[in-house]
Amino acid sequence: MANYTYRYYGNDFDSRIDYQDLTMRIYDYVMTLMLRVWLRQENPPPGKDQFQAIDSDGKTAAAVKWGDDEWEQFKKEFKRQAYAAWNNAFVLIPPANFDGFIDPKGERRNVICFLEIQLVDAGSPSVHTVDVVRLADPKASLRPNAGLPKTPGQFSSNDLKPNRIEGPYRQPIQYRKVNGKIRVSGGDSRDGLYTWEQHPLPHEVGHMLGLQHSNGNAAACKRDENSAPCYGVLGSDSINIMGRGDALDVRDAEPWRKRIVQHTPPTCLKDWRADFVSNEARLRGLWSLRSK
Ligand SMILES: [Zn+2]
Repeated sequence: MANYTYRYYGNDFDSRIDYQDLTMRIYDYVMTLMLRVWLRQENPPPGKDQFQAIDSDGKTAAAVKWGDDEWEQFKKEFKRQAYAAWNNAFVLIPPANFDGFIDPKGERRNVICFLEIQLVDAGSPSVHTVDVVRLADPKASLRPNAGLPKTPGQFSSNDLKPNRIEGPYRQPIQYRKVNGKIRVSGGDSRDGLYTWEQHPLPHEVGHMLGLQHSNGNAAACKRDENSAPCYGVLGSDSINIMGRGDALDVRDAEPWRKRIVQHTPPTCLKDWRADFVSNEARLRGLWSLRSK
């Protein structure tokens, strides 16, 4: 019988697979991506009360010193929002030729996808470092940026609040039942600008896990990865967590799908399918479409 590798050490994040009790006495195979993040306070220079924080677009906003309570709250809320968005959303379905996920009763099981954020206080090549500024004005905003493995990113205290972003809504999403399964598809092609709502920090965590923007393959997006088309031209891309909204799509399971291959030699990427773990996950964040 094939066996899975319990622990994998990656360049970007580690991962482990446990057989654990998720719901009272019902055990599941769970793959947890372990993301290490160093949130670094960015405070005014000594002797000053304020400084001008600047984002990757060159936009500035006044920033003040962090207080201990606000800082603890920021770290806690960063994790809470990331877990609410990403955890217990996807399952990975093992290929027929891999029998490492069979429970003690002999039943084939899927693998449930989880994320664990480990906040650390030192940098290393496998740590995502992010400078965090506390903005003076609760209405100010800077563009959050997850950074790259060797370049620190930047968040602000106001990134805990959802953003309202205007964007197109072509092809309204429809839900139909086909052979007992809910299918998502486009319908007519009403165009227009709608307001979307997004929690910026779970989106940035998606980047840390290696996801690009929901319409990242568009030609305009290849030229500028922050241009409007990257976040979606179709409603289904706009509403996505890697677009302008908070909703998930099975393709967002890619970080887990890619990683499980490392735990299950000799399987390969094309062998593995991802699906939603529940209807709750399928509908999560769909209210991020706000209005026309
Ligand atoms: Zn982004």
